[in-house]
Amino acid sequence: MTNSDTIKILPLGGVGHFGKNMMVIESSQDITIVDAGVLFSKNDDGELDLEIPDIQYLRSTQKPISAILITHGHEDHIGAIPFIAKELNVPIFAPPMAMELIKSKLKEHHLLDTITLNPISLGDKIKLGRITAEPFQMCHSIPDSLGIALHTPAGLVIHTGDFKIDHSPLYGPKADLHKLAQWGQSGVLALLSDSTYATHSGHTESERILTASFESMVGQAKGRIIFATFASSIYRIQQIMDIAEKFGRYVTVLGRKMEQNISISRRLEHLTIHPDTLINRQTARSLPDEKLVIITTGTQGEPTSGLVRLADKRHKQAELSDTDTVIVSSSPIPGNEKESSRTIDNLLRQGVKVFYNEIADVHVHGHGSQEDLKLVINLTKPKYFIPIHGDYRMLTAHQELAVECSVPPLNALIIENGDVLEIGHRSAGIIDKIDLEPGLIANRRY
Ligand SMILES: [Zn+2]
Ligand SMILES: [Zn+2]
Repeated sequence: MTNSDTIKILPLGGVGHFGKNMMVIESSQDITIVDAGVLFSKNDDGELDLEIPDIQYLRSTQKPISAILITHGHEDHIGAIPFIAKELNVPIFAPPMAMELIKSKLKEHHLLDTITLNPISLGDKIKLGRITAEPFQMCHSIPDSLGIALHTPAGLVIHTGDFKIDHSPLYGPKADLHKLAQWGQSGVLALLSDSTYATHSGHTESERILTASFESMVGQAKGRIIFATFASSIYRIQQIMDIAEKFGRYVTVLGRKMEQNISISRRLEHLTIHPDTLINRQTARSLPDEKLVIITTGTQGEPTSGLVRLADKRHKQAELSDTDTVIVSSSPIPGNEKESSRTIDNLLRQGVKVFYNEIADVHVHGHGSQEDLKLVINLTKPKYFIPIHGDYRMLTAHQELAVECSVPPLNALIIENGDVLEIGHRSAGIIDKIDLEPGLIANRRY
């Protein structure tokens, strides 16, 4: 094995803890980066900190950086771009939905004209020095979610991005399992795979199972429906739009982010809404309550969200009435349980009917569980397996799954942020450790 046949894999974030995902893939001559996300964390003073990956390694490297490749448009994958893109001055490649969200971020930071943005399409083969990137279809909770296959001098490295395996999604594409199987046949050097639900047994259920549950909730409701979800969960929004139409209800939107994402998704044809269904808030006020669905954010108890303002009786444009039904279509992300529960308590105090994840089918996860993760490992048959995107216990659980799927124990490698993993045809190992700073950008009162 010559030095030029090896590849280095260096996570600058996202491995060993959730958030600020950023993976460096380095050949003997150049560097390619996958994702550039943020991490929101609460500090001891109760403030919400915004952290980005420490890019000192990228500042000091002598090798050219070819590109930042983006897998999808969630904050933990694109949120750091406005803070690092100008300094790194490298082109960004992103699928359409992520690209629109990146553009709006860069516009807010007055950086839109300074960064080279290249759209990614399926079937592209993006030549980046000695590495060629080939995006492939994955299925996740936001449209245009991709995995990226990196053809490197050492062999094929597959980065799954975030994914679930939904064999019959209501909307949007399935994961391209055929492609994964083909690569498995021709030989995969390393699989870097999403570990978020590696501790969950079984399969992650299809979005499809929620339809009957939502229809029953909407069917029983006497007054307005207030439906809260993530602003990026476009397929969930499509689902509630379709159900609203079926039950003869009109839909209005509370919240700037939700409005922006709905507008982008309609433009990209990820959302199909009958022209009469979506109405503005003024028109909504003139309709009887039983004709209305209000879509908003706030499932995690975010203080500036529509749902939390309604729960705290401090929304300027709307207030709750005791005939309202609230559907909290999410489960709390670890760390947000307290705020999420407090919001539900405050909604209940106002006498409204609330459906939430502990008592009703309101949410399915956007990440694959153990049997889904095993499927991807078995299809790709990687020589080396590297769990990514998760806390350490999830990485460990995912490593064990890989070994159960016949990856040799010494080839199922846990790395953490800052570890430099070198992989060649015959061996792989951590050869260095880069010290990383937290990368704190700003904080604000939570
Ligand atoms: Zn995601
Ligand atoms: Zn993610």
